[in-house]
Amino acid sequence: MPYPNLLAPLDLGHITLKNRVLMGSMHTGLEETGDWNRVAEFYASRARGGVGLMVTGGMAPNREGGVFPGAAGLFSDADIQNQRLVTDRVHQAGGRIAMQILHAGRYAYSKDCVSASAVKSPISPFPPTALDEAGIEKQITDIVTAATRAKLAGYDGVEVMGSEGYFLNQFLVTHVNRRTDRWGGSYENRMRLPVEVVRRVRAAVGTDFIVIYRISLIDLIPNGSNWDEVVLLAKAIEAAGASLLNTGIGWHEARVPTIATSVPRAAFAHLTARLRPEVSIPVITSNRINTPELAEALLADRAADMVSMARPFLADPDFVAKAASGHAAEIAPCIACNQACLDHTFSGKLTSCLVNPRACHETLLNFDQAAVRKSLAVVGAGPAGMMAALVAAKRGHRVVLFDKTDQLGGQLNLAKLVPGKEEFHGLVDWFAASVTAAGIETRLGGTVGVEDLRDFDEVIVATGVIPRDPGIPGQEQALSYLEVLRGAPVGQQVAVIGAGGIGFDVAEYLVAGGHSVTADPAAWRREWGVGDPAQVAGGLVEPAPVAPARQVWLLQRKPEKPGRGLGKTTGWIHRAALQMKGVKMLGGVSYLEISAEGLRISRDGVEETLPVDTVVLCAGQVPARGLADQLATAGIAAHVIGGADVAAELDAKRAIDQAARLAARL
Ligand code: FAD
Ligand code: NAP
Ligand code: SF4
Repeated sequence: MPYPNLLAPLDLGHITLKNRVLMGSMHTGLEETGDWNRVAEFYASRARGGVGLMVTGGMAPNREGGVFPGAAGLFSDADIQNQRLVTDRVHQAGGRIAMQILHAGRYAYSKDCVSASAVKSPISPFPPTALDEAGIEKQITDIVTAATRAKLAGYDGVEVMGSEGYFLNQFLVTHVNRRTDRWGGSYENRMRLPVEVVRRVRAAVGTDFIVIYRISLIDLIPNGSNWDEVVLLAKAIEAAGASLLNTGIGWHEARVPTIATSVPRAAFAHLTARLRPEVSIPVITSNRINTPELAEALLADRAADMVSMARPFLADPDFVAKAASGHAAEIAPCIACNQACLDHTFSGKLTSCLVNPRACHETLLNFDQAAVRKSLAVVGAGPAGMMAALVAAKRGHRVVLFDKTDQLGGQLNLAKLVPGKEEFHGLVDWFAASVTAAGIETRLGGTVGVEDLRDFDEVIVATGVIPRDPGIPGQEQALSYLEVLRGAPVGQQVAVIGAGGIGFDVAEYLVAGGHSVTADPAAWRREWGVGDPAQVAGGLVEPAPVAPARQVWLLQRKPEKPGRGLGKTTGWIHRAALQMKGVKMLGGVSYLEISAEGLRISRDGVEETLPVDTVVLCAGQVPARGLADQLATAGIAAHVIGGADVAAELDAKRAIDQAARLAARL
């Protein structure tokens, strides 16, 4: 059997989970749409895909604890009936589902937020009200009520959210808990609330119900919990009646990335491995685990009893089924980009997935068999072309996929060369494996012309982009980002023109000098100041970044700070990574001339010459429309997608989404 540890059942006493895979909690925004059929289908399709246990997005136990005003929860009989639809559909599909109870405490985006003490969070505009004794009692009662309602709604259990800096976590640390009553002061007092919550939840729901507690293993904030406290809490939570200990890494306000693509895979699993022998209930590991191989290895190494993966189930609902049936290469990989999931969530949009536009759109975007089988030519094997080809083939069309280069992937083959973007290798490999599995004919290594396309029923042009010509005097002495990423020699003083996604990536490539800390977890921890919580409270130490390989200036014309247009949840990581390497990021720049002396610029009316020996152009892109124009002239109708359609603000998310939606209706 493949993955014998991962696919082994887990006996929880009253119930046996069919494998060791947990779909971790994700806020998708689906519940707030009020379309419960859509919510049910989201979870049911993952249940059909074979996951052992799922945890829902966080449900508020009361209004003051909701992450934002109007956050979903089990407040009425109607809420219970709606969620019944979800649990019934999951159970019919052979799945198990627990509801997460999430009290946000001072992270609630509301002036009504509450916490241990009136200590405002750096990531919230609202100072919390310090709860009095009656207020604390109300919060406990509300959490317990939410658990009993979850049972009424047909859930198999609840997860009590105690990590990531939310309400229960806030009581544990002196940084937020300044109380002097029985809920503050000594650690025994500070941990009273989470332990009491679990004890009362267990008492209320009985023994035939899963109670998961999510514990913070490393807070990554100053004066966070130390390791002895984590262990003390874990033991007390077990004694209070939890069935499973799930683990969380870092508070939301921590300035250390914990799930972004540049975080090494399984970067924090060593902490779960350390906790596991301290308790006798199963321990779940999490964070940056995205392949069955890695999950299996962690279980085989006894680092955990179960593995939590959340975003990987947005990327592929059939993760477990494909692993179990020997088709792991066809699992669409979560590349940890956050572009369509967390970036959406934090912009008030519905969650989806860059590699799977059907995520959270299961009832709306379907790839049904086509009524008429057509022959389709897809020109350009970047993400747009490959996704169009895959969806068309899935629907029964005969597809030929062309590319002028001898490889599939388009610009993704450049993205994967950037340090911290190693996950793009997996994305290209998945596309290639899926193209083969779908029986798509590929014709690579030759530019395609009009005559090659006359005999097809439909033509899709996905020829991508070409670099924009910024028209700077002397630019013939500069390198393009294409040349740099393909290994052109670069000097010791470099100016990067253009601070978009590619400018930032190129700057990271240049300062890394061939050493990616993502591939070197110990160096990554030093770089971001991740220490051992057994030695320093919260596990936070002084960052010790590796010296940059060269001096880099990163420039843009807009007068704002470079990097404002980067991903909502990842932009700060890119900015911090470059700051650590001494990159000088300048806005409001006019480019006057590139010469042997360097790059002459003007800022605020003042001219200066940056003494650089290399200038790299990352000034954006324009559509590669040559073929599309030739087809139009020849009177051949074609669908133009991806960068070939609109290059402005193009990313792989838009390219893939547009491709899937087009191919779904051909
Ligand atoms: P492309 O990927 O450009 O593919 C076009 C394909 O068409 C190419 O393979 C080309 O060879 C082929 N072609 C062109 N003309 C012809 C012809 N006449 N005949 C045959 N074949 C032809 N996006 C993100 O969302 N997230 C990221 O983190 C990210 N990082 C990036 C990092 C770098 C360094 C780069 C360069 C890009 C990055 N992008 C990222 C952008 C993303 O890769 C592009 O938006 C995406 O690849 C565009 O897809 P596409 O299919 O339209 O075009
Ligand atoms: P981009 O994000 O549009 O950035 C282009 C940069 O060039 C901007 O900084 C722009 O700033 C500058 N510029 C534009 N016209 C110029 C001109 N005529 N002369 C000089 N500078 C000019 O494009 P990109 O960096 O090429 O990235 C392409 C796409 O790939 C982006 O849309 C991006 O979303 C995607 N991508 C995403 C990521 C990611 O991590 N999510 C990473 C890489 C790429 P000024 O106009 O202010 O000078
Ligand atoms: Fe993973 Fe990116 Fe998809 Fe989010 S959008 S699930 S991070 S691949």
